[in-house]
Amino acid sequence: MKTLIMKCPSCGTYTMKNICPNCGTATVMAIPMKYSPADKFQKYRIKILEGKDGKNND
Ligand SMILES: [Zn+2]
Repeated sequence: MKTLIMKCPSCGTYTMKNICPNCGTATVMAIPMKYSPADKFQKYRIKILEGKDGKNND
């Protein structure tokens, strides 16, 4: 991939850099999960669902 869209978790600025040019916070990847073909995310989602089903009952 050539363009990785990053997003600042602090101020919400979108950038292609690892550091937010607005506030200097380290950015995270802003690609929506539904666009990612990686099935590892699907496994995580299943694990989360299974975990919530039994234990998180508060
Ligand atoms: Zn920022």
